[in-house]
Amino acid sequence: MKALQKVCNARLPLWTLPPSWPQEEGRPALADLTFEGARILSIEASELFEAAPFAHEPKPSKAELSRGVSRHDEPQVLDVGGALVLPGLLDAHTHIDKTLTLGRIGEVQPGLLNAIQAMMVDKARWSVEDIRSRASKALQWAYASGVTHLRTHCDWWDPSVTPLAWDVIKELSTEWHSSIQISRSALIPLTLFKDLDTAWSLAQRVSKSNAREHRACLGGFIHSSNWDPIALEHLIRAAQHFELDLDLHVDEELNPKAQGLERIAQLIMDHQFKGRVLCGHTCALAQKSDDEGQRILDLVAQSGLTLVTLPVTNLLLQDAVPQRTPRLRGMTLVKEAKARGIPLLIASDNVQDPFCAMGSYDPLEAMIIGAPMGQWGNAFDEWSEGICQTAWIASPSESAAPHALERGARANLVIFDQANAIGFPSQTQPRRIVRDAVLL
Ligand SMILES: [Zn+2]
Repeated sequence: MKALQKVCNARLPLWTLPPSWPQEEGRPALADLTFEGARILSIEASELFEAAPFAHEPKPSKAELSRGVSRHDEPQVLDVGGALVLPGLLDAHTHIDKTLTLGRIGEVQPGLLNAIQAMMVDKARWSVEDIRSRASKALQWAYASGVTHLRTHCDWWDPSVTPLAWDVIKELSTEWHSSIQISRSALIPLTLFKDLDTAWSLAQRVSKSNAREHRACLGGFIHSSNWDPIALEHLIRAAQHFELDLDLHVDEELNPKAQGLERIAQLIMDHQFKGRVLCGHTCALAQKSDDEGQRILDLVAQSGLTLVTLPVTNLLLQDAVPQRTPRLRGMTLVKEAKARGIPLLIASDNVQDPFCAMGSYDPLEAMIIGAPMGQWGNAFDEWSEGICQTAWIASPSESAAPHALERGARANLVIFDQANAIGFPSQTQPRRIVRDAVLL
């Protein structure tokens, strides 16, 4: 561990840089970041501009890397030699209550609804110790990946009881507060909002556990198998009444008739909803006709909601039929959303549970799968915003925190010494992490 005063020659993604940032041959100039205590004091173009398309020479030697010192042997300056650098990472959609259960569950039939059933059976084994141990492992993995903000959903299947995991994760969020800011979303089946009183009491309970350091929002599982527009309206009205943000599982299916996303966009406009609204998955949007999809996205853009794409789980759970190769991808209309300026996050979702056998709480893993799946170009300069942009989960009513890479923000960085902007996110596994101006 080494306290840093400055990181120089960092290749930052275009989305973090102002329009006036100097460029050469279409590439942004490298950046020097200076720190004051644990925060960023300034970000300026490096004097020495070098940016070869495939490499960032000169690289630090192995000995320098292991000692974590600069080439110029200045103890508090780290010269990263043109390496790609991102701010601390956001994993915007996870399930650390369910995680790491697959090993004991065994074989699960393919598809989302079978995974839900397997999870319900496993819940008999959930105790405070069991949840704490699995969720802690998840947070250790996220920490090692460079994650500084994590949103977890937490199953809430019984309207009369606050789930055990909800409180365990609250305790963990206190313990981890200095390194990972954890927010919780209560994942509640839409049917529980059918009764208005129940909707109100659920939102009230979530609201009581919402505090500055324990942020909590209301969630719901909205699918054509439980579709109920009245219940959806109750959910939104209850969240509005208790001033809660929303983070919803929406249309996680390939049914072109699924109506969740369109209805949510319309309702939050009709009710002039004040909080932040995140909609995860929305796979069904890609099954609608081009015209229909574009029309719904225009509505989404107007409503101001944020979309979250979960490439790994969607590839695994959608179009899943035993003994048959899947044909469909399950990714929502990410390019069309981006073209409309709709905030788009990219996240891990389930990790080693009945929904998804893989995963490691590394948002870069979701990018490695998502980039070829969605045929994304300029993954570093344009799409990496989806794993860093914490403002897109923050409520508009929260005081405006500094942008992840600007003066006053915490000096959290992830340095990819082996990667380059063209091939990103390949070669991003080797990484060095700076937390609060300390190189770990
Ligand atoms: Zn999820």
